This record gives sequence, C-alpha cells and structure tokens, in this order.
Amino acid sequence: MPSFVIKEKCDGCKGQDKTACMYICPHDLMNLDKETMLAWNQEPVQCWECYNCVKICPQQAIEVRCYADFAPLGAACIPLRGSDTIMWTIKFRDGMIKRFKFPIRTTVEGQLDIYAGVGEAKADPAKIKDPGFYNQQATGVEFKKPE
Ligand code: SF4
Ligand code: SF4
Repeated sequence: MPSFVIKEKCDGCKGQDKTACMYICPHDLMNLDKETMLAWNQEPVQCWECYNCVKICPQQAIEVRCYADFAPLGAACIPLRGSDTIMWTIKFRDGMIKRFKFPIRTTVEGQLDIYAGVGEAKADPAKIKDPGFYNQQATGVEFKKPE
C-alpha cells in the first residue's frame, strides 16, 4: 500500500525548493503543491513502500497503510527511527494503537567496520560472477548453493 500525506500535519517543509520527502524518495514520487504547500504521492501505484519518506518527514506527516500480513487491513504503520532502535507504531482502524520497539544495529552508530575479519584480503575480480559476498570470498568461506 502506498504512502500518503496527512495534510493537517504537512507544512511543505516550510517552503523549501525540495522537500525532505522529495529528496529521499528513490522513485521520485513525492511532489509539492506550491499553492497549498502540501506534499503528495503523485503515483501511488509506483510506491515501493520503502518508508523512507515516512522516516524522514520532520512533521511525521506521512504514513503507509501496511499489508494485511502483519496488521489488519487498513491499519497505518509509522516507523520512528532513533540512533539504536526503531519504534513501529501501528494505528488500527478502530483507533487502537500498538507500539513495538526493535534494535536496528548491534554496533555503535558510525562504528561499523564492514571489512572486519577479512584482513588484507582483496576481492578476486575473477570471481565477480560467483554467488556470495566479497567478504565470504576473501575469507575463503564457501558459498553453498541450495540443493
Ligand atoms: Fe510535508 Fe513531510 Fe513532505 Fe515536508 S517531508 S513536505 S512536512 S510530507
Ligand atoms: Fe517514495 Fe518510498 Fe515514500 Fe513510496 S514509501 S513515496 S517509494 S519514499
């Protein structure tokens, strides 16, 4: 289900040329009506439901109707990102609200070393088409194809 803007909360990012939701959308879907200063999702059927616009909106003015596989149909889902956790709020159609808090990382923000454990090993260009990840190849861990 696509994202949608709650017009009572949107302030058009206070008249910036490019709003936060326009800046972040990977599919270039968000647009700003310069007359009303309200943003809108101009092509909902193309929405990836990536939640980027929801997370970046400084007014928390964007929500996504989540799929029925994790909340009853029609419920809205709003993630609120912190430095080490993300708070998911589910707003049900009858007004009930539930919140779930999950950690989003196991290392301190900005401290992740993606090359940890591979030492001086280098990626082998000859294996560019092989399955698996660089650090698997660099450490010699074999990638097993499913049977
Ligand atoms: Fe409105 Fe939020 Fe988009 Fe800014 S980021 S224009 S406040 S919906
Ligand atoms: Fe764009 Fe993702 Fe927001 Fe959909 S959920 S409008 S794809 S940023």
